Amino acid sequence: MNALLWLLALLAVGGVAAYRQLGRLAATSALGGTLLLASISGGFPVLLALVLWLLWGAFALLLHADDWRREYVTGRVLTFYRRQLPPLSDTEREAMAAGTVWWDRELFSGQPDWDLLAGFVDAPFTPAEQAFLGGPVPQLCALLDDWRITHQDADLPAPVWKFMREQGFFGLIIPTEYGGQGFSHRTHSAVVMQLASRSVTAAITVMVPNSLGPAELLRHYGTPEQKDHYLPRLARGQDIPCFALTGPQAGSDASALPDIGVVCRGSHDGQDVLGVRLNFEKRYITLAPVATVIGLAFSLRDPDGLLAGPVERGITVLLLPADAPGVRSGERHLPLDVPFQNGPLHGENVFAPLSWIIGGEAGIGRGWEMLVSCLSEGRGISLPALSTGVAKVAARYTGAYARLREQFGVPVGRFEGVQEALARIAGNCYQMDAARSLTLYGLDHGEKPAVLTAILKYHLTERGRRVVNDAMDVQAGSGVMMGPRNFLARYYQVMPVAITVEGANILTRSLIIFGQGAVRAHPYVLDEMLAVQEQDADLAVERFDQLLLGHAGFLLGNAARSFFLGLTRGRLAQVPGDGVSGRYQQRLSWMSAAFAFSADVTMLLVGGELKRRERLSARLGDVLSELYLASAVLRHFQQQDQPPEDLPLARWALDDCLARIGTAFDGLFANYPNRALGWLLRWLVFPTGQPHHGPDDALGQQVAELLLAPGDSRDRLTDGIYLSEDPAEATGRLELALAQADAAGQVQRKLRGALKSGELAVGADEDLLAQAQAAGVLDAGEVALLGGYQELLREIIAVDAFPAGSFRRVSTTA
Ligand SMILES: Cc1cc2nc3c(=O)[nH]c(=O)nc-3n(C[C@H](O)[C@H](O)[C@H](O)COP(=O)(O)OP(=O)(O)OC[C@H]3O[C@@H](n4cnc5c(N)ncnc54)[C@H](O)[C@@H]3O)c2cc1C
Repeated sequence: MNALLWLLALLAVGGVAAYRQLGRLAATSALGGTLLLASISGGFPVLLALVLWLLWGAFALLLHADDWRREYVTGRVLTFYRRQLPPLSDTEREAMAAGTVWWDRELFSGQPDWDLLAGFVDAPFTPAEQAFLGGPVPQLCALLDDWRITHQDADLPAPVWKFMREQGFFGLIIPTEYGGQGFSHRTHSAVVMQLASRSVTAAITVMVPNSLGPAELLRHYGTPEQKDHYLPRLARGQDIPCFALTGPQAGSDASALPDIGVVCRGSHDGQDVLGVRLNFEKRYITLAPVATVIGLAFSLRDPDGLLAGPVERGITVLLLPADAPGVRSGERHLPLDVPFQNGPLHGENVFAPLSWIIGGEAGIGRGWEMLVSCLSEGRGISLPALSTGVAKVAARYTGAYARLREQFGVPVGRFEGVQEALARIAGNCYQMDAARSLTLYGLDHGEKPAVLTAILKYHLTERGRRVVNDAMDVQAGSGVMMGPRNFLARYYQVMPVAITVEGANILTRSLIIFGQGAVRAHPYVLDEMLAVQEQDADLAVERFDQLLLGHAGFLLGNAARSFFLGLTRGRLAQVPGDGVSGRYQQRLSWMSAAFAFSADVTMLLVGGELKRRERLSARLGDVLSELYLASAVLRHFQQQDQPPEDLPLARWALDDCLARIGTAFDGLFANYPNRALGWLLRWLVFPTGQPHHGPDDALGQQVAELLLAPGDSRDRLTDGIYLSEDPAEATGRLELALAQADAAGQVQRKLRGALKSGELAVGADEDLLAQAQAAGVLDAGEVALLGGYQELLREIIAVDAFPAGSFRRVSTTA
């Protein structure tokens, strides 16, 4: 019994040393001291004491005999590691080093610095940005009639294209010296979000030239001549760009593109110049049917050695005028009936001079690097903005509909079942806006956090889809019947497009988020991989040794943190916040330690196999993602000055993230490749059980109620979308009716009271109101209010019906 207690004491001292990240000497001394005390006091039988002293000796030797360790331990681990890890090509090295690591480093550290997060405070929009967001953007929105765009024109009408060009919508991110707007990423996102709340066709049309459209590539990689020529034309919308990477054979695996450009001599502007002869087949290319300039990705070959260097020169991007001989464009795809311009592109023996390559000859073979860097930035902006715009519309107007639509004599939004859906709509919307805002802060401060933008792309499009599905269920028939009155169904159609583009979601979750994060955001892995590649043998061992020691301490520290924080459900974590925020910071610190520890153990266990173990990778990626979203929620609440009435939203959003973390861990441990290790991990991380079960019903009800009445919370939640108060429009009617609902309800109750008491006779509504006024039950103002409200309600409940002849009959027989 005595020996058991001493053993536990030793374990506790070791655990505390790891938890506190004590230095080597302090840790060895603490363990040695405890062992000495136990030995002197006769705490262990002689044999056990001997074994423990031997173990302590080995531990001390490992930590302190540096030369011995390097020769017999680190050197051998390095040799093993080298065999496991094939040499990295320059391209792989570049891709791995691409982008930056930002808040993801904190999440991987096991102890995020919450003060750092609190310091990420948004600057206000500049006056020019404010003027644009309050002027041309709502003006453009007012011009958009999505039903007409979709069902009549199958395109944006000519005046809309003209307005977009003239007002600089295609040059949002082009610097002002080239005639662009030079806006921040936050403003760019705000523009797309507001447009998406009106018409996704318009939003997508603006998105492309401002993301992967060649402007972004030119800004970063173009030659001065290319910038001077193209940027002003793109800013004015004189050139409409598209970006062509995908083809029938190259979808998700875009690097496998079979489109070839062979170096040759040819005639350009009457001169004999060096260029490439291009043959390509592309599809799914947004704006291709109307584009005047194509950013074309292809594989460059130099079989005749006209350029110095190897034959295969890799993926290259050039700017190809759409009217170059041999280019065929103009055909259209119809992506889920949403008529933004999208279509295939073909090129047959198209000659392009080398000067068209982005970056000129220096840009040859750098296409992949260009794409990875610009795509990873862009996917944190456009689709997240679109998805958040969609979620805000659903939250604002489906919430209003649920208050106004009554069944069984009760607004449907008061039924518990509907409230569950409404709470999910509002809570997800809050998470989305928070994550959008945090990521834009990073991007605007020069970060290019590739892992975080992949998280954003995946989780905001997925949450957007979830929100729309819930909204469709609440709207029921009124969501299904398409027509000008239906503000929701188009979003239901378009969400799979957002899921598919810019890295299809299944691939993004399974391969990219954790796969890339494990290498990039982990404090040791990338440096270890680079140390393995070091040619100087002594230097390699020395570097690797330091990294390995640090990594071991990191692993043990997180194991100890996971366990001790697990015992106290996070309460041991020292965090700056107090009250509700502080408690969530503690829980998230615990989950961050658990994540860092589980990620390390998993990487040690499966090593290079991780790429193929997508289910493991996806679940760890889910934990990382939800930690990011939860951090964003904490910041968002703080940024908005912690309004008490928004607390239910923030708590719902955080509880939901924590529950998703819990589910991902449950799945990970239950399916761990080594069952015993899975069990051990679960016990270490959740020693008192997995406590995250999601928002409770009472919280869900509070959140749902926020959508059922006008109020500051609802306004903050849906801030930045286009608001109409036009009774001729579906969303305008909902807005107006919701504002009147309480007052109209009071008048209605008065009327019912008079009817019940027999003061009034039952009649048609119009008569009834007139009688009520005549009888002095209601005054003229009350009659006008109730009459107007009832008229609005009739319109809100109505769905579109079309004359029979307006449908084309399709024959099913030959
Ligand atoms: C409307 C629309 C607009 C587009 N606009 C453009 C554009 O402007 N320019 C452009 O170049 N491209 C564009 N694309 C192409 C888009 O980026 C590709 O569709 C996308 O990369 C997916 O390719 P795919 O459809 O061929 O799917 P596939 O590659 O065939 O994938 C099929 C499924 O397999 C999954 N998958 C594939 N590999 C893996 C893996 N390793 N692990 C796990 N899952 C995997 C995918 O996630 C997907 O679910 C557009 C596409 C659409 C639909």
